Amino acid sequence: MTRSLNGRTAVVTGAGSGIGRAIALRLAEDTAKIAVWDINGEGAAETVRLIEAAGGTAIAITADCSDKAAIHAAAEETRAKLGPIAILVNNAGIAPFTPFMDIDDDLFDKVIHINLRGPYLLTKEVLPDMLAAGWGRVINITSSSVQSGSFAQGHYVSSKGGLMGMTKALALEFAPSGVTFNMVPPGFIDTPMLRAAPIDADAFAQTLPMKRIGKPEDIAAACAYLASEEASYITGQT
Ligand code: NAP
Repeated sequence: MTRSLNGRTAVVTGAGSGIGRAIALRLAEDTAKIAVWDINGEGAAETVRLIEAAGGTAIAITADCSDKAAIHAAAEETRAKLGPIAILVNNAGIAPFTPFMDIDDDLFDKVIHINLRGPYLLTKEVLPDMLAAGWGRVINITSSSVQSGSFAQGHYVSSKGGLMGMTKALALEFAPSGVTFNMVPPGFIDTPMLRAAPIDADAFAQTLPMKRIGKPEDIAAACAYLASEEASYITGQT
């Protein structure tokens, strides 16, 4: 089902690939104007091409979503071209596999910078637009590993656990404002990130009740609902 997002402006980070691209395409189908932010400019441009081919509106911005100055510049460009930002999907992330004793301090900091500090900076940058409008949606892409743990991912699971905590804290703080904060924690979704992981995804799929790994569109559908008008009484939820 397509829900109308009334031409609102949505920023989707890491939307040049995988889950982010599917979210961008789905929100565009639901009539949002999409700012596709990604560190990979070619991937972002390809997502915009796909959205426009389907009749939607989108712009590509090459940005490191952990860099404060780059985030501010990307937000200003988005506002100038598409208007105030109403929907933010913090999806960009990295997911290395490293045995705990081999994680050096720089790698730990890098994972936290991109997966946790990035969403913190992005939220601070765009929240004023939402508060001024009395309407906003922040959707954070966390991970099922926060509940289950994940082998050799002490850095990654720490970052996603932090993002889950931030989502809940901000949901409480901003509940009266009309801005909701929710999260979607993917399990095993078929993307370049999963295919690069030291995991036999197809063998793992056979252990799942549905006998298949998820598709990026499965996550996009949940995000579309949380971004919609119908989800206005849902905040702080997974
Ligand atoms: P993906 O295919 O690797 O896509 C992620 C995109 O984000 C890539 O285009 C990547 O660019 C970009 N990116 C990385 N660092 C960035 C940065 N600093 N600034 C801007 N863009 C950046 O991964 P995915 O599987 O779609 O994952 C999307 C999100 O879902 C991530 O947060 C991930 O942790 C989460 N997740 C995925 C799964 C899964 O099974 N796939 C499971 C749980 C959670 P480069 O390719 O150039 O790095």
